[in-house]
Amino acid sequence: MPNLKWSFTDSHMRLEEGGWARQTTTRELPVSTAMAGVNMRLKAGVAREMHWHKEAEWSYMLKGRARITAVDQAGRTFVDDVGEGDLWYFPSGIPHSIQGLESEVDGCEFLLVFDDGHFSEDSTFLITDWLAHTPRDVLAKNFGVPESALARLPEKEKYIFPAPMPGPLAGDRTGGAGPVPESFSHRMLAQQPTATRGGTVRITDSTIFPASKTIAAALVELEPGALRELHWHPNGDEWQYYLSGQGRMTVFGSESKARTFDYQAGDVGYVPKGYGHALKNPSKDQPMEVLIVFNAGDYQTINLDDWMATNPAYALQNNLQIP
Ligand code: MN
Ligand code: MN
Repeated sequence: MPNLKWSFTDSHMRLEEGGWARQTTTRELPVSTAMAGVNMRLKAGVAREMHWHKEAEWSYMLKGRARITAVDQAGRTFVDDVGEGDLWYFPSGIPHSIQGLESEVDGCEFLLVFDDGHFSEDSTFLITDWLAHTPRDVLAKNFGVPESALARLPEKEKYIFPAPMPGPLAGDRTGGAGPVPESFSHRMLAQQPTATRGGTVRITDSTIFPASKTIAAALVELEPGALRELHWHPNGDEWQYYLSGQGRMTVFGSESKARTFDYQAGDVGYVPKGYGHALKNPSKDQPMEVLIVFNAGDYQTINLDDWMATNPAYALQNNLQIP
């Protein structure tokens, strides 16, 4: 069985003035070909530069608040302030920006998940990088201004940098061709949790967050000793981020292969499409919380229990030699 675990604490940390970023991609966790993750911190006022990338971006706000902006292919705009437990989703190629806002943690920390494991946070298309690599006469002609107006353009990428705090959200909503038809943000933590036998689950897929066409997610809480029963997903890989507590997962990969991993807060777990798995909270007194992301717009799961229960009894008796 391939390795199915990586700790963000073992990832290279890109330190910038007022923020940092670290990633888990196929380079860190080779099995994770379908999804990559980035953990990012921006202090209040600190901006993640205007950029785009080929992969769609899904995000969960871990702590604090941020202002996010985007514009779609039809010139329709999106601006919102997001806080703890909020999501955003930017389709592939859609340009966007993020800026930390004042909060009890001085800015924010969030998790980004991309629908391709080969993504690299260091290879996004940055507005400064592009303009710095375009002849000045071309820029002047493009924008209809004299070259002298562009004298102070940055000579290289800014990526993460301190900036003045943005004003109130209401004043920041721009015209363009009107708002995007499907909001790029969603309040996941505000969803009513569904009770399970050993905890709770909130599921956010494209049926309730329509913009999120290529990513679905589940926020799972397991009580001490509880088990997320044996199951698999027929339509996507599973990328996990452990928020708190401990998890113990056994994954079955056919050909008599199986492996068990222990996870704790800050770890990434991975389950390839179709692989059977069960996740237990091994702790006697601590609850466990895990954010689970799938590279599919709709959430699909097949529980072993349900499959067995819908078979004729003789088939189960023949296969499992049990009464
Ligand atoms: Mn991005
Ligand atoms: Mn699963």
